[in-house]
Amino acid sequence: MDYDVKSHLREVLSQLPQGVRLVAISKYHPNEYIEAAYAEGQRVFGESHEQELRQKHASLPADIEWHFIGHLQTNKVKYIAPYVTMIEAIDSLKLLREINKQAEKCGRVVKVLLELHIAEEATKYGLTLDACRELLEEGEWREMSHVQICGLMMMASFVDDKEQIRREMQTAADFFDEVKARYFKDDDAFCERSWGMSDDYEIACKTRSTMVRIGTAIFGPRVY
Ligand SMILES: *Cc1c(COP(=O)(O)O)cnc(C)c1O
Repeated sequence: MDYDVKSHLREVLSQLPQGVRLVAISKYHPNEYIEAAYAEGQRVFGESHEQELRQKHASLPADIEWHFIGHLQTNKVKYIAPYVTMIEAIDSLKLLREINKQAEKCGRVVKVLLELHIAEEATKYGLTLDACRELLEEGEWREMSHVQICGLMMMASFVDDKEQIRREMQTAADFFDEVKARYFKDDDAFCERSWGMSDDYEIACKTRSTMVRIGTAIFGPRVY
């Protein structure tokens, strides 16, 4: 292996404050990189493509918690529902329904996060704040016994302007408080704020992230 995953992982972990969990984003990286992180004690990994996740899940230790972090097509849900721990990027009611349906078939409860679209780029997926309010207000999710909504996820704009990134993450943190108070006050499971990647996790830690999703800073550049 030509990349020192272990020392990069230790370096990242040493910078995370208490209460911030690491999801190691292993997409496009080979199993041996994941095994190196696993040997250091890392158990939570994130992938963004269903087929790649399927292969890795089948060939790596069973106690790994897999998070699906990318845009998920509804027709792919059935493949990951049997084993995925958390699906981080819920961007429609339709997707939420499908996860509930497929998780029920497997007798599981799948944890999910609602993905917010706050960044300026038009290309990013996710729910606008108003669309997210609408989804929660509409209320169908309350009847879904095989998904557990655990919090919110977002990606900040891909810009150098740290103040803009901070502002977007702060918007997400404030929005978390709003929906927590309105819909999840008595639900301890609704507690996760997933923001922060390799280039902006420092800012995320200052804007109340509970879960950072870091790939490059641990595994090096991805080879596509
Ligand atoms: C790839 C990816 C990450 C990790 O990005 P890095 O810059 O490599 O840390 C985090 N979140 C999502 C949704 C991603 O697709």
